[in-house]
Amino acid sequence: MFENIYSPVQKLVIKPFNNLFVKRDDLIDPYISGNKWRKLKYILEEAQSQKKTHLVTFGGAYSNHLVATAAAASRSGLKSTAFVRGEQVNNEMLLLCKLFGMNLLFTDRESYKDKPALFNQYFRENNDTYFIDEGGASNEAVIGCAEIIDDLKDTYDHIFCAAGTGTTAAGLFKGIQKHGLKTKLHVIPVLKNGSFIKDEILKYSPNADNLILHLNYHFGGYAKTTPELFEFIKSFTSKTGLLLDPVYTAKMFYAIVDLQQKNILNIDDKILALHTGGLLGIFGMKDKF
Ligand SMILES: *Cc1c(COP(=O)(O)O)cnc(C)c1O
Repeated sequence: MFENIYSPVQKLVIKPFNNLFVKRDDLIDPYISGNKWRKLKYILEEAQSQKKTHLVTFGGAYSNHLVATAAAASRSGLKSTAFVRGEQVNNEMLLLCKLFGMNLLFTDRESYKDKPALFNQYFRENNDTYFIDEGGASNEAVIGCAEIIDDLKDTYDHIFCAAGTGTTAAGLFKGIQKHGLKTKLHVIPVLKNGSFIKDEILKYSPNADNLILHLNYHFGGYAKTTPELFEFIKSFTSKTGLLLDPVYTAKMFYAIVDLQQKNILNIDDKILALHTGGLLGIFGMKDKF
């Protein structure tokens, strides 16, 4: 199932940019979306090589990672279980998880913090289970995300990505260094105090040359939004035809537009933005538009 993906690089026609491109990882799959597909590719390969038949993972109630893991498990003939942070709820994301056969264990916020302990408490005696960290963060995920750079036929002055755990950014940076590119990687943490992302990236790469973190585009924190961000999404999508999610990709594109307005990016610079997908979450925010 992790073969023959469709993720073209497309030029965005939006003023005043002359060379703004987007890597459409959002088109890889509607449910195993964007970077979650990249991250799960080698995680599932590793689980299967260890003859594991049951994936166990962790996430919030709106987690793209949970939907992706549920979908990938069912398509691979594997069982899946998720520890879901917080009280029992129903929403469109968890509906998809359930339809893909994922078993949901709602977990209070305190217990949720210690994921290995939860895993052991429920599954210590079970040899079939495979632990996948929140968001899929792992060495396998970094290797999968580095392949985004392998896929590129062209080179760019700048590559942009949004970051939650920083695993995707770590993979991109590793790929850029592996290919000896001069491309600058710009990372937009979508949570407050995102400077830890740099350490996450440096776990996998020897130096931070050409790595730039932009810490001021989190809009108040993880999954936090403002009316300005929703206005930006409406305006950007109506001009480009590209849908954005408010948690990740909208903050990244907002940063690109803002950095150009501040003359930190030049209109002729060759810029590639990674569309990491995650568009299902927008339906939970329909009242904001
Ligand atoms: C999960 C996710 C991210 C964050 O990826 P990390 O590897 O955790 O930094 C970015 N964009 C979208 C759409 C996501 O679903």
